[in-house]
Amino acid sequence: MATQPLTILKTPSAPIVPKKDAVDPSKLTHKNLRGGAFWQKIPAYKDVSEAQFLDHAWQAKSSITKIEKLISTVATLASPEFIADLEAGMKRAPMSVRVSPYIVSLIDWEHPYEDPLRIQFFPLGSRLLPDHPKLDFDSLHEQADAPVPGLTHRYPDKALFLPLDTCPVYCRFCTRSYAIGLDTEDVEKVHLRPNDERWQRAYQYIASRPELEDIVISGGDAYQLRAQHIEEIGNTLLDMPNIRRMRFASKGPAVMPMKILTDDPWVDALTRVVDKGRKLHKEVVLHTHFNHPNEITEISKAALDRLMERGITVRNQSVLQRGVNDSPETMTLLVKRLGHVNVHPYYVYVHDLVKGVEDLRTSVDTALHIEKHVRGSTAGFNTPVFVVDAPGGGGKRDAHSYEYYDRDTGISVYAAPSVKPGQYFLYFDPLHQLSTHQARRWSDPADVEVMVNDALAKAKAHAR
Ligand code: SF4
Repeated sequence: MATQPLTILKTPSAPIVPKKDAVDPSKLTHKNLRGGAFWQKIPAYKDVSEAQFLDHAWQAKSSITKIEKLISTVATLASPEFIADLEAGMKRAPMSVRVSPYIVSLIDWEHPYEDPLRIQFFPLGSRLLPDHPKLDFDSLHEQADAPVPGLTHRYPDKALFLPLDTCPVYCRFCTRSYAIGLDTEDVEKVHLRPNDERWQRAYQYIASRPELEDIVISGGDAYQLRAQHIEEIGNTLLDMPNIRRMRFASKGPAVMPMKILTDDPWVDALTRVVDKGRKLHKEVVLHTHFNHPNEITEISKAALDRLMERGITVRNQSVLQRGVNDSPETMTLLVKRLGHVNVHPYYVYVHDLVKGVEDLRTSVDTALHIEKHVRGSTAGFNTPVFVVDAPGGGGKRDAHSYEYYDRDTGISVYAAPSVKPGQYFLYFDPLHQLSTHQARRWSDPADVEVMVNDALAKAKAHAR
């Protein structure tokens, strides 16, 4: 199909000799966003009007927070075997359940085993795998680096503030599953509830550290903060002379874009903080979390267009997950689609070691392979950096920057000279990505020690 010539363009004075063929517009799939009343395919939402579906309060109120409700909502959409598998998986999940009707409606329930959203939110008993022997519940050691509960100060000039511990949805793969959501049958959490005294202590610490310039306000999720809290936190931090940058972190645009379309007080509060920051020559942005191209719909685009009109920069951080986005094609489509809706792809995280989600992890080698294909597919500023968040508190390291990587044992070793000089941090590929022989070695503690010591010795020998 040929594109129509633009009437504003003049006829060229000399013929243009193409150096490459024009791309067929039907191949530009990153521009194809899902629209229409797709939610009405779900029996529970078949009578829900567009106005109701776009109402953030309806989305929040109708979110599924109990396993029984989930099962009754999808029971007629998939086979009895799948439903039994789902029930078994949900009972063993370390995260409590919370999923918006929007997410439930985006899942292809005719192919639920392969669906990338089902994989991220609903575990199946048949797919669960034992945790890696080196798994530690708070693998990033956020609590160890916290001078005040809910404030992690690891990097020289940046701190992570967790004002609350709830989110609009609960994701299986959450790095912060040690704190987020309700306790589950298997897991008792560290709670970080909104609390003025705790917040004041965090502010006092931030104000007392001249080296701190950059604050991430996460959680939990900034979507759950009331409008006045967005302003209170934003204005308090902007008023500190040392603070130059801040980012509100929310998965909201990916899982409940309706809030941006219909919660005017919240969007207005964020806009006022961003505007105030701009006047003070300080940057305030929104960081979000899309993992798969199917999560970007016409509703998301309308929401992100609204943020664009308000002058709010949005960046994205994805988590690399097996069966979700661990192919060059899917990740490239995600990156291009994010660019199309004016979201900057910032990071792709190699999946952290998180309890109960070993089936979702991939290897560092997979990340390196995908990165090679993504880089060059679009502009550099829209190309994410693939990082390993070094277990033990080394911070985010470019996945390529390992001191040593043994693809056979799955051990990679990173150094973080600007964060924790002289220390080494080990990442472990999941055992299901290793050969049977190498995977078996991990069941023998003496052999584990040999593998780890060997990797560390080789890393130290290469280190500069
Ligand atoms: S929204 Fe973010 S913080 Fe909340 S459960 Fe999901 S990944 Fe964790």
